[in-house]
Amino acid sequence: MGAKWSTLYTEIPKAQATGKLDLRLEATACRIEHGKDGRANAVVYRDRQGFEQRQHARIVCVAGNAIETARLLLLSESSQFPNGLGNSSGQVGRNYCHQITGFVWGIFDKPIYSWRGATLAGVVEDEAVNNLSRGFVGGYRMELVTLDLPTLPLVGLPYGWGRDFTSVIENYRNLSGMFINGEDLPRSQNRITLNPQIKDSLGLAVAHVHVEEHTNDQALRTHAQGQMRRMFEAVGANRVVEGPTPPATHNLCTARMSRGPEDGVTNQWGQSHEVKNLFISDGSALSTPGCANPTLTIVALALRQAEFIAGEMKAGNI
Ligand SMILES: Cc1cc2nc3c(=O)[nH]c(=O)nc-3n(C[C@H](O)[C@H](O)[C@H](O)COP(=O)(O)OP(=O)(O)OC[C@H]3O[C@@H](n4cnc5c(N)ncnc54)[C@H](O)[C@@H]3O)c2cc1C
Repeated sequence: MGAKWSTLYTEIPKAQATGKLDLRLEATACRIEHGKDGRANAVVYRDRQGFEQRQHARIVCVAGNAIETARLLLLSESSQFPNGLGNSSGQVGRNYCHQITGFVWGIFDKPIYSWRGATLAGVVEDEAVNNLSRGFVGGYRMELVTLDLPTLPLVGLPYGWGRDFTSVIENYRNLSGMFINGEDLPRSQNRITLNPQIKDSLGLAVAHVHVEEHTNDQALRTHAQGQMRRMFEAVGANRVVEGPTPPATHNLCTARMSRGPEDGVTNQWGQSHEVKNLFISDGSALSTPGCANPTLTIVALALRQAEFIAGEMKAGNI
């Protein structure tokens, strides 16, 4: 009904109305090409029928999500950029972050009907601070949350079987949920690389994701679970259930902003340090995940980048 923002009915229709948007649906970008001057000059993609196409470009903006953006830059290696486009410093794919997430459930005597209304209906920000006396750096948000019934046992509950497990599901009506959204640490060894063994249906190497949790991440999660338990118990929960770490949904930081190329991929505008007409326009460019859900920050940075690009194009700098 238009109450929530989405590019599908905000930016894209507006851009279409200018008559200057050419939207290529179901196309897969396979590599970004460059000229002898080291500037990006085309994107090679497969169209919806699977035919290879080449789109020449004055500038290229990549927004494939942190794993696929890193993969596309790595796939775009050449004799001039043997480690991947814009990757002379080896920073592309590094510092992969996905925020510390997890669910805690409180079971009450009376119905909660958590599925009614907004999915994420409230946020507690008291712990979204850097307070070293808690024994870890970074902070987290506690978010009221609901999961639909089929998804609940898949990602929200500890794996189990038998009465103990099913009794949680039987109490679905009386269940109240909270979600941890915490800050994980950017670490160089947590990274996206190309898998030399496994190819996708187009014959391109798939992404390999390497992640090790830092003890700081574990300490943050344990603290968050403890605070949520205290909150649920304070308002009368009969039972509190902690979920496992769910699959990563907030993929970030794999082509991060930095002052110089030695420890990042882009400048403060998301512009590649190395290839001046190549821009990173998605969550890959964040230099830290923070503890807020990332989308609005990603969008704000993309809008800011668009203004920068317009100015640079007008000035003839790119
Ligand atoms: C279940 C779930 C719940 C979430 N809830 C929230 C929330 O409540 N709040 C919040 O802020 N964030 C939430 N997120 C996170 C949020 O969706 C992401 O952080 C955000 O969408 C990332 O934006 P992006 O531009 O980096 O990538 P995306 O939005 O993922 O866009 C990348 C696009 O690139 C396309 N693509 C990739 N590779 C190629 C290629 N080679 N060629 C062509 N196209 C390509 C993809 O198909 C995709 O359309 C959630 C994510 C999930 C999965």
